[in-house]
Amino acid sequence: MLHKKIRIPENKTIALVAHDHRKDDLLKWVSKNKDLLKSHTLLGTGNTAGLLSERTGLRVQPLISGPLGGDQQIGAMISEGKIDILIFFWDPLEAMPHDPDVKALFRISTLYNIALATCPTTADYLLSSPLYQSSYEVEIVDNGQTLYKDCQGRKKS
Ligand code: PGA
Repeated sequence: MLHKKIRIPENKTIALVAHDHRKDDLLKWVSKNKDLLKSHTLLGTGNTAGLLSERTGLRVQPLISGPLGGDQQIGAMISEGKIDILIFFWDPLEAMPHDPDVKALFRISTLYNIALATCPTTADYLLSSPLYQSSYEVEIVDNGQTLYKDCQGRKKS
């Protein structure tokens, strides 16, 4: 598989998601880190974004609600290079109807080598990294090249 280097800008695009039983934890974390988050571009799944916007005053762009496709929407944006960091406080104690979407989102996040935090501790480590406030070069899978190669393969057979 081919890879390419991309530069993550100083101003990050951060996706925020929390399952229902973790929404209070995320709200608490975002409120605590409001000053560190406010200069970046924030977006989130429908209910999470609505809650965070209303309760913190931050501008959090709402996407589709998680169970209705929002996790997949975020996954698609990651594969398009539109999201740099994912903060997803998922619920480890309850099965969800959209568990396959959550698994797919974690897979895509790992494939595209983005920063991913699933609990407040990792999220704290992430925000306190010097890389959070600076531009940063990362190596990711080159989806354009892979598609081209696959097409070539199909043509031959
Ligand atoms: P929600 O989705 O923010 O719309 O509640 C979160 C999720 O369950 O993935």
